[in-house]
Amino acid sequence: MSYDNDNIFAKILRNEIPCERVYEDEHTLVFMDIMPRADGHVLVIPKTPARNVLDATPQQLASCMATVQKLSHALMKAFGAGGITIQQFNEVAGGQEVFHLHFHVLPRQAGVKLRPPGNMEKPEVLKQHADRIRTALPTLT
Ligand code: AMP
Repeated sequence: MSYDNDNIFAKILRNEIPCERVYEDEHTLVFMDIMPRADGHVLVIPKTPARNVLDATPQQLASCMATVQKLSHALMKAFGAGGITIQQFNEVAGGQEVFHLHFHVLPRQAGVKLRPPGNMEKPEVLKQHADRIRTALPTLT
């Protein structure tokens, strides 16, 4: 399986389609999932091509996990969360739909189930949630 340069996250990285960006560093980008399964659901991706964990380099995985941890702290604070769920899918049989490596990071509250997949959120709501995360990020110790 090879990397498709026209996958939707590659287009986001090239600024060819919009997204609600919340954080980036040299190696990774974080933006709001357009169909969030919880308020504050973000995606962490490497800036360089990787289809999924099966072809990613150890460096890409390490960069992504450092950002996943940073965003986990930010989501705990921004949403007063009780915990964090991290999801990651590989190939069609593994549940992957977009073929650029990504990690889902979701703030969770005890007893609150994830929403069903496939429901598009309003852009203004995604922006409000992104604002909360962007505010929390610089306050992390
Ligand atoms: P999966 O490949 O199964 O991990 O799912 C891909 C995820 O990407 C889903 O949660 C979608 O809601 C999300 N997604 C798809 N297109 C976009 C987009 N243009 N902007 C943000 N999130 C997206």
